[in-house]
Amino acid sequence: MAQPFIDGSYVDLPGLDRMSVVDPSNGSEVDTVPASDSDGVDRAVTSAFEAFPAWRDTPAAKRGEILGEAAGAVLAAVGELAPLLTSEQGKPLREARLEIRRFVHTLEHYVGLAKNIRGGYVPDLDEDTYGLIVRRPLGVIGAIVPWNFPTTLLGNKLGPALITGNVVVAKPADTTPLTTLRIAEIMHEAGLPAGVFNVVTGTGAGAGQALAEHPLVRKIAFTGSTPTGKKLMAVAAEGLKRTTLELGGSDPMIVCDDANLDKAASAASVGRFFNCGQACLAIKRLYVFESVADEFIEKLADKVGRLRIGPGTAEGVMLGPLHTARQRDLLEEQVNDAVDSGAEVLHGAKRPEGDGLEEGYFYEPTLLLEPARDSRVATEEVFGPALPVWRVRDIEEALELANGSIYGLGSSIWTADLNRASDAAQRLEAGYTWINSPQLVYDELPFGGWKQSGYGKEHGIEALDYYTETKSVVVKRAVTTGDRAATGELGGSESTSQR
Ligand code: NAD
Repeated sequence: MAQPFIDGSYVDLPGLDRMSVVDPSNGSEVDTVPASDSDGVDRAVTSAFEAFPAWRDTPAAKRGEILGEAAGAVLAAVGELAPLLTSEQGKPLREARLEIRRFVHTLEHYVGLAKNIRGGYVPDLDEDTYGLIVRRPLGVIGAIVPWNFPTTLLGNKLGPALITGNVVVAKPADTTPLTTLRIAEIMHEAGLPAGVFNVVTGTGAGAGQALAEHPLVRKIAFTGSTPTGKKLMAVAAEGLKRTTLELGGSDPMIVCDDANLDKAASAASVGRFFNCGQACLAIKRLYVFESVADEFIEKLADKVGRLRIGPGTAEGVMLGPLHTARQRDLLEEQVNDAVDSGAEVLHGAKRPEGDGLEEGYFYEPTLLLEPARDSRVATEEVFGPALPVWRVRDIEEALELANGSIYGLGSSIWTADLNRASDAAQRLEAGYTWINSPQLVYDELPFGGWKQSGYGKEHGIEALDYYTETKSVVVKRAVTTGDRAATGELGGSESTSQR
């Protein structure tokens, strides 16, 4: 029976309901966790708040050293953590291992930046006066994480938060708390001080909301759906809390007539079906020039047909189950709507049968040709293994359709014409554009959505700005000011004002 991890140990929060954590490949119960209430959340936030001064005042290099040790311990435990992640999330073991390694890589990236938390120096502000621009940590960060990449998305918050001297209370999704809890324990055993990183379990409306509303939480670092992001922005407004919101997406991919069709088809297949299509940055709408459409679609359908479906623990499986029955139901509704709107089914569009797959939340990889342009797969986020494909006349039509979405997370274009590619990169309304490249995210580059895909950035050195406040410090040299003040010379210049 798993428990929240608070102040350096698992704690019993008596009297709470317990929630099942279920294996999506067969519906069996893996474990249970308590549905923490506001008292449980308060205990975690208080622990973090009390740990803050000591962690903040630990030299950045030392924080980096501790975080580096903790990351190394997580890496050493990948053999234990990956099966745990697969059991609660459903993804193939190979992808679970990759995910844990990405978590570690992200922490290491921020360890590398420990000595680059920099401010500025402005000389000669006034007579004998200079300015300093310093950055200070915020305090307690409430990190609210979804179920699709429970550890990667935690790492995106934990790395920049801890290295800049903040402390964290994480609230994983109610369906994927186990790997996060174990990671907190491992990091603590490796030297992270008690209270610096706590994990509360519970529902979004319960523990999540209580965390976001807690007066000692200075920032809400959220990844999840756009509707929840909007709610959290309203909660943040009440306390004028800082936020970063990494939200939903409907990434377009454009395949031009001069693209390398083999590479583009591989990128589309991996980009859509990795993690069973449950990725914010998955390719969710594909626009291919009509002159190469038939050839491209044939290559893509061939790759999709070869995706092996099964439980994440089975050897060679590339497509695990969807995460919950609800997720599969939603996908089925969207696919049925596409078919009703006139889409041709090129592959899938049904649940697989046999080999015990009926026990889990499986769905065949699905390719849909030409659904109506106002169908649900065109306008909503499709969070599962279904890819709609449309033929387009030219780049102008492709860009218009690509930008015709409320979302603006990622985008990609495949073409041999670098002028066309760089023009598209300027015009695509999205936080990331890949040119002739699979949709891979790099810790070195800032990441975050435009439009209704988010607010603020994770990754890159830029993320440090989102976990610190800027303070301006004015320093007047004492040596001469006293003398000048005495003679009435001290007054300020035209560029100063009092507000
Ligand atoms: P969700 O918004 O339902 O839940 C995400 C997290 O928020 C969970 O921990 C949940 O318990 C919590 N939560 C829910 N309601 C809350 C509330 N009222 N107050 C506080 N916390 C609350 O999202 P989901 O369906 O679990 O995740 C999938 C979504 O996440 C998709 O839309 C996907 O695109 C998005 N996502 C975005 C990114 C990105 O970086 N932009 C990355 C991965 C996933």
